[in-house]
Amino acid sequence: MQNLKNMGISEKAYFIVQKAQTKLTELFSDVEKLSEFNQYKVIESFWSKNIAPRHFAPSTGYGYSDEAKEALGGLFAHVVRADSAVLSPHIASGTHAISLALGGVLRPNDTLISVTGKPYDTLQFVIGKKECRDTGSLYDYGISYKQVELHQSGDIDLANVLAAIDTNRRTKALFVQRSRGYEWRDAISMKKMREFIFAVKQKHPDIIVIVDNCYGEFTEKEEPLECGADLIAGSMIKNPGGGIAPTGGYIAGRKDLIELVENRLTCPGLGSQIGSYEASYRSYYQGLFMAPHVVGQSLKGSILYAKVFEDLGFKVYPAYDALRSDITQSIMLEDEKLLLTYTKAIQKASAIDSQVMPLPWAMPGYKDKIVMAAGTFVQGASIELSADAPVKPPYIVYAQGGLTYSHMKLGLMIALDDMKFT
Ligand SMILES: *Cc1c(COP(=O)(O)O)cnc(C)c1O
Repeated sequence: MQNLKNMGISEKAYFIVQKAQTKLTELFSDVEKLSEFNQYKVIESFWSKNIAPRHFAPSTGYGYSDEAKEALGGLFAHVVRADSAVLSPHIASGTHAISLALGGVLRPNDTLISVTGKPYDTLQFVIGKKECRDTGSLYDYGISYKQVELHQSGDIDLANVLAAIDTNRRTKALFVQRSRGYEWRDAISMKKMREFIFAVKQKHPDIIVIVDNCYGEFTEKEEPLECGADLIAGSMIKNPGGGIAPTGGYIAGRKDLIELVENRLTCPGLGSQIGSYEASYRSYYQGLFMAPHVVGQSLKGSILYAKVFEDLGFKVYPAYDALRSDITQSIMLEDEKLLLTYTKAIQKASAIDSQVMPLPWAMPGYKDKIVMAAGTFVQGASIELSADAPVKPPYIVYAQGGLTYSHMKLGLMIALDDMKFT
């Protein structure tokens, strides 16, 4: 406690958090079991691919026969049980990875249906809207888009999805967003994912299921490909990079589809045969190795935040003891000042840029003004202690993990003090 006092944290904040923590032993033990399971899954994958120091070696120029790049794709494919995968520093973000998956698979006159309602904000521009023509969006290429809202229960609305599928009009792919993103809803659990995909594929075996897997990796024992999905895509500065990968994204799944995606990433005919990286690939391997542990730390932190804010009388989503399939924790603060105080507190708790003041800004790709606390080692990495919130009622903040549980705890204590709950 003395060291915390020296850091300006009140005894009351410390006790609130300690007390909540004592009630979470069982849940934490479940998370540890999950991390252990996934840690072994990852290590077994390293073994099966005989990963060696030579796989860290950089490459230059075209990057032909870049063994490190090939091994990394193979390793990741094994981890997520894919036939094939591309994991590359040239994929700039999660949005880019998802955009490559969609653009790789869909062709003019195809229809894409999102089955989890409105996709993540940045994807609106990828899909394309009538009011933003001529941007190179799917819309511009004559790809139609439909959206089926989630059922009231929070599950995918199977009946409405089946009704929306029109094989004559070439419904080629379904899009599933696993994580809640910026929505007040549950993540899609792997159990529900499996049930849904099984039911759809019974009627439409050829339909391609593409999953936005951002924030979901390693939060359950299985990944979407094990539940029947055809492609998954995500960001390496979220869960699977373990806080160590410096940039990048991945797409994994069916071999024929990954080839199309690779053609999109570079160009037709060259695919993944080209692309070099002069920095070492080590951080990708090491990040993937760390990821199950880091995701476990994030899950424990999210559970703690949920418990403490729920005890203070706030609405939180998911509840502290709910089944999780992503790392995000939504907290409804219902007050702009509280929201800004919270994000400032999280920024203050950061190891990097703790002196910076987060301000709401019109971030590229987002509709509402966003306030973000992100004092991170890797710019914008939301597997690190961070807070994101669109500045609009009901003032929901999204806590998205932390590299260590202790750090998340520290952020919470500072927030409790600054928000005057102590
Ligand atoms: C973060 C996120 C994205 C987009 O990823 P960026 O790396 O920010 O482009 C897409 N979908 C979901 C659910 C996300 O959480």
